[in-house]
Order: sequence, then structure tokens, then C-alpha cells
Amino acid sequence: MLKKERYKLFVDYFSKHQPNPVTELHYSNPYELLVAVILSAQCTDKRINQITPALFERFPAVEALAEASVEEIFSYIRSVSYPNNKAKHLAGMAKMLVEQFDSEVPPAYSDLQKLPGVGRKTANVIVSIVFDTPAIAVDTHVFRVANRIGLTTNAKTPLAVEMQLMEHLPKQTLGMAHHWLILHGRYICLARRPKCEVCPLTHFCKYYQSGKAALVLNKTAKVAKPNKTSPAKAAKAKTLKPATGTPADDL
Ligand code: SF4
Repeated sequence: MLKKERYKLFVDYFSKHQPNPVTELHYSNPYELLVAVILSAQCTDKRINQITPALFERFPAVEALAEASVEEIFSYIRSVSYPNNKAKHLAGMAKMLVEQFDSEVPPAYSDLQKLPGVGRKTANVIVSIVFDTPAIAVDTHVFRVANRIGLTTNAKTPLAVEMQLMEHLPKQTLGMAHHWLILHGRYICLARRPKCEVCPLTHFCKYYQSGKAALVLNKTAKVAKPNKTSPAKAAKAKTLKPATGTPADDL
């Protein structure tokens, strides 16, 4: 199948079945989204949504967050991953927004990347969702699912995935494609055991058609058999790598 055809089938399917995908992070303004996205690195949206109501109640605007100590911010985010670093990032980000950007989240990608805790992925999420700028943020799900479906070829880094998706996806679908790939990776195309048996993309998924999916299914089925697994085999199963070379987390 030609790559062009695969992209068309991908866009056609999701445009029809998920025409309005949105982030699962809870927020009500650009400041809250920026905070939530910074916190969501290496953490689940579910966890972030559990802690942000109290955080936003205490710091309802960026000015309040800019006046807070790192220790106080930490006390609200202690249950997320890397809370020390993230508390420092939020404090620094808020101060910079107040002092250099008139307390507004800037629309320019280059300005966003100056903010502590904001890398390429976070900046892409913000320009795409808040400012409707054509961009696609690549996280672990986007990386893995785009690779498995065959939307990307030999893309070894998030930047390479981003460049290939930018090249082939219609501009107006970039923001949606980010959510399509994340949601598909979160609920269907799981890292360790993709649910190919219920996936509607098998007719154009490169990974499925290569037969690798069946191998993973067989392996996981064997690992799941009760009482027949020797200790040596169980130890080996524990070290089974995910089906691609992507990060093993399934957030
Ligand atoms: S067919 Fe399997 S590998 Fe392909 S996208 Fe669906 S779940 Fe993922």
C-alpha cells in the first residue's frame, strides 16, 4: 500500500468517527492548559486531572502562581511524576509569564520555548490547541502509533516523526491527528499488547499486516497461562520488551 493511500484511509476513518477530538486534560483557559501540559510529562492525564482542581483553586491566575514558593507549589503536585522539577518549572514559568509576557500565554512558538518546563512537545500542544496553529506534538503514543500504522518510516526520534506527519497530513487535520493518535494509543494500540482484535484500522495498519501483532498476541497469551509457567520463563516474560522501540510507558 502506498503511504499516500494509508494517510488517506487514516484521515478518512478518524474524520468520520472522531470529528472533534479533544485533550483529556481539564482546563478552562490557556494558563491552566499550560500548567496541565507541563505537569503531564511522563504522567497520566487522569492523575493530572485529580490534582489540578486544588492547584487552580489556590492559584487561579498566573500572578498568584508567580508569587508562590516552590515548596508550596510542590505541596499541591507531590503525587505527579518528578514533582520537584515540575514545581521549579511552574514557579519559573509563572514568573517569566508575568515579567516578560504581560501575564499572557504567548502565541509564538519561539516565546513558548523560552518558558521553564516548556519543550517542543508542550509548545506544539499550546500553539495547536490555544492558537489553532498547524502543529503536531509527538508524545509516546503518537510516536508508537504513527510508527505502527505506517504513517512514518524509519523515524527514530520524536522530531523525525513530527516532520513526517507534518509533511503528509493535511494542515487542517494536524491538531486533530495529535488527539486521534494519542487516544488510539491510550485505549486501543497499547504499548505492550495492542488490541488489534478490536481495532478498526487493521486493513491499513502496517504493523498488523506484517504479522508482528499476531506474534505479540501469542507471546502475551503464553505469559498469561496460569500455573504452567516455570519460574525461569516467568522471569523472561517480565523482561519482554514492548513491541516497538518506543518508551514502555502507557499513559
Ligand atoms: S491494528 Fe493493532 S498495531 Fe495496528 S493500529 Fe490497530 S491496535 Fe495498533
